[in-house]
Amino acid sequence: MKYIIQADRLIDGSGSEPLKNGAVVTEEGKIIKVCTSDQLTQSDKSNAEILTVPGGSILPGFIEMHSHIHCSSEADAYEHITTESNETFLLRGTQAVRAALSSGVTTMRDLGSRNEVVFPLRQGISDGIIPGPRLLVAGTPITTTGGHCNMFGTEANTSAEVVKAIRQQFKLGADCIKIMSTGGGFTPGTNVRAPQYTADVLKNAVHDADRLGLKVAAHCHATEGVKNCVEAGIHNLIHCSWLSSDPSEQYDYDPDVADQIAEKGIYVDPTLALSHLNSLRGRPIKPDSGAMRDPEKRFEILRDMWDRGVRFVTGMDSGMTNAHFDDFAYIPEVMVNDMNISPLEAITCSTKTSAECLGMEDQIGTIEKEKSADIVVVNGDPSTDISTLHDVNTILSQGNLVKSENNLLI
Ligand SMILES: [Zn+2]
Repeated sequence: MKYIIQADRLIDGSGSEPLKNGAVVTEEGKIIKVCTSDQLTQSDKSNAEILTVPGGSILPGFIEMHSHIHCSSEADAYEHITTESNETFLLRGTQAVRAALSSGVTTMRDLGSRNEVVFPLRQGISDGIIPGPRLLVAGTPITTTGGHCNMFGTEANTSAEVVKAIRQQFKLGADCIKIMSTGGGFTPGTNVRAPQYTADVLKNAVHDADRLGLKVAAHCHATEGVKNCVEAGIHNLIHCSWLSSDPSEQYDYDPDVADQIAEKGIYVDPTLALSHLNSLRGRPIKPDSGAMRDPEKRFEILRDMWDRGVRFVTGMDSGMTNAHFDDFAYIPEVMVNDMNISPLEAITCSTKTSAECLGMEDQIGTIEKEKSADIVVVNGDPSTDISTLHDVNTILSQGNLVKSENNLLI
């Protein structure tokens, strides 16, 4: 199928200024031309379905970097994950990927699931059995015995055990590896202020994952855990909360380590929207949750990291309480409103930078010829009002029309 999408402006994801009256031509799942509407030729238009969105803006499909598609995102998310069956997880996952795609997410990374349920879900999407974004999966996360998310199924303590666990996920078909470098708020009794692994164990993990062509994303709340991950050369830091080992001090931010994160090209997914959604939808912050007790200070730290050149990607931690699968637009919105970066910068994090973090920048993340036809059109102008990303008019996912004229087609 051939489509022409045209709107008042085109934001290509690279950070460039919007192109006025932009148009994109797609055919067989690929972008074949990017231009202005008046540069469209008769041959461009022949056999094409033309979708015009007056007042709208064309963008690359959004990239959600951190999901748990089998989790419920309800208040009882922990209860659900510890008691439900694999069959229920599959039903939840099916609903989750549909919701994400419906909000304009065309690529999604699942960063840890229980048992092996994400693999048939990924297969089901690529076989066209269920609608969903391009799905990349970590399989089960790797954690210490009794550690954060141990109920998901993979416990490993020593370097040898961690390396074996990586190879097991590789064998199952994982696209990346998730490791829990500190405790986490989701798992009662784990310590968010202390590391679970030494830098040496993490180094061995990265070394073996590199050999297999897999990138490693590491959950880290405690500053000691962040430092271990940076020393080990972890590819992608998740949360990066800089929590002090002393519970009477909330944060222990180290700007020198932030400089190293920038220098080593480590991407950071600060799961920014989660606490915003918790306050929006009502949820008390637990003292041991690792969540933001002092949001102003947290945003100050993140802004300092940004100024030092750290690259941010857009993960939701969807599936956790209050982080619904169609909530993506809150991430760039919080980046603009609370981190004080520009709307175009937040859009670039949501598209190009996240694609680079996945190592998929040759296929997705910007609107360019030859790339996958993953396109979103929103009503309004997100370069001046980021909240318009919530108002999706049209979605094209790998060349397939998912939403048109505000109507969902899946
Ligand atoms: Zn998570």
